[in-house]
Amino acid sequence: NRQIRLAARPVGEVKSEDWSLAEEPVREPGEGEFAGRTRYVSLDPAMRGWLDDRPSYLPPVGLGEVMRAGSVIEVTASRHPGYQPGDFVVGTFGVQEHAVSDGRGTLKVDPALAPLSTYLGALGMPGMTAYFGLLDVGALQEGETVVVSGAAGAVGTIVGQIAKVKGCRVVGIAGGADKCAMLTEELGFDAAIDYRSEDVRKALREHAPDGIDVYFDNVGGDILDAALTRLAMRARVVVCGAISQYNSESGVQGPSNYLSLLVRRARMEGFVVFDYAKRYGEAALELAGWIGEGRIKVKEHVVRGGVEDFPATLQMLFRGENTGKLVLELQ
Ligand code: NDP
Repeated sequence: NRQIRLAARPVGEVKSEDWSLAEEPVREPGEGEFAGRTRYVSLDPAMRGWLDDRPSYLPPVGLGEVMRAGSVIEVTASRHPGYQPGDFVVGTFGVQEHAVSDGRGTLKVDPALAPLSTYLGALGMPGMTAYFGLLDVGALQEGETVVVSGAAGAVGTIVGQIAKVKGCRVVGIAGGADKCAMLTEELGFDAAIDYRSEDVRKALREHAPDGIDVYFDNVGGDILDAALTRLAMRARVVVCGAISQYNSESGVQGPSNYLSLLVRRARMEGFVVFDYAKRYGEAALELAGWIGEGRIKVKEHVVRGGVEDFPATLQMLFRGENTGKLVLELQ
């Protein structure tokens, strides 16, 4: 069973020396357990935070431990009454070729209803994040103007499309002309801003002339500052993530103009998707319906390889080399 383990705590950008490739015998499932072979591993920006030895919403990954990751496994042997060989299960099984589980915190999924990778994306954690972040934390109302950063990513593509389903005006911010064209031409966004080549403040003035009602922030930093300058009255700023800050060695850059919250009587609120776990079923059902109707398109970026490709694949997220949900499909 080949595995990726954390070898050292990264400083700044994660380097290949921060990981080790380990191998141990495949373990047989004990009474009440099942074993499975990993098919898809999820790559998530939050993984960067789990590598730092500081308190967060989850404990850090320990040095020498198998890297934490969500994945889909195919059950190969079972001594658990609820799981049969051939079942597919989503869980936090880690970056390894084989996993053994007692089933706690896992979910059986049906490949006949959606491709397996989609249970890590639109119908998985990123989809849940988009749904509850926008509708619950963002309290989105029909007809509002929504701006989402990281718009071409796993969470961002779903945020924008849910907002379109809800009859909103949607502006996406993403890196590069291709991603921006995809947002407006394929996913139905009303406008897209290429933050690499455009002046984001100026573009927001143009594309959100009446101000932003909901700003869904995936990136933080300067783009958050730019969005704060354009808030409408009673706007909601949803703090989902801040990927531009995750590799920073000098701490997180705070908003320089948060007083716009005062002037605009706005609020800014963070959330962690796991707090909505009890309601995942309702969100998955509604998202699956919209996907089935063709109102939400699923964008996935599948890298095929082995567990040894995990470190390089993770870096793609921080270089903007993925479009939609990034997964590693084990061969
Ligand atoms: P994405 O699929 O969006 O991938 C990350 C993207 O971030 C890249 O493709 C890149 O797109 C963009 N990016 C990378 N570096 C920068 C930078 N310096 N400045 C601006 N953009 C950058 O990842 P996810 O959809 O999985 O995650 C999106 C966000 O949601 C992350 O911040 C993540 O931590 C957060 N999250 C929060 C959860 C919660 O419970 N609060 C749960 C899940 C995710 P581009 O080419 O456009 O730059």
